[in-house]
Amino acid sequence: MLSNSPPSSSSSPPFPSPSQSPPSPFPPPPSPPPSVVLSPCAACKILRRRCVEKCVLAPYFPPNDPIKFTIAHRVFGASNIIKFLQELPESQRADAVSSMVYEANARIRDPVYGCAGAICQLQKQVSELQVQLAKAQAELVNMHCQQTNLVALICMEMTQSQDQQLLQPQQHIDMNCFIDDNSLGCSWEPLWT
Ligand SMILES: [Zn+2]
Repeated sequence: MLSNSPPSSSSSPPFPSPSQSPPSPFPPPPSPPPSVVLSPCAACKILRRRCVEKCVLAPYFPPNDPIKFTIAHRVFGASNIIKFLQELPESQRADAVSSMVYEANARIRDPVYGCAGAICQLQKQVSELQVQLAKAQAELVNMHCQQTNLVALICMEMTQSQDQQLLQPQQHIDMNCFIDDNSLGCSWEPLWT
């Protein structure tokens, strides 16, 4: 394997291989024939090897994203990445690559715990949030009880004041209308007999 150089120096290989790295302008020409590979994949470019047509790394390490391979290569090594990919069916290779890149990133950030460190941190965060949620729910129940009590109190006071209001105006009801009706009924009755 070509591990004699630090993999981070990926941008410009000192001796471009004649077949595959033409001195291209920065943006690729917009209308290339689709079958021709314009540039080597990021992995082959970093490994300084010829990117063949059926390069197992090419679909997952496009030339415009060299960091991805640099990171995975630093942690797993190119031969292991190739071996992992060759052991997997093609449908699972993209997921395996993103998993390896994720794990490599975590390992570089946290050389001792890697992904496990991130998992522990997230679990801690989850339990803290669960405590917060339980507190908020308890507060909610408490406030709901207070609201219910308040509504009950208001209802009680309203019924009390209504009772008082009902008692007072009944004394002022004029009874003359009833007397009028009675007298009217009395006056009609003799006409029909
Ligand atoms: Zn390649």
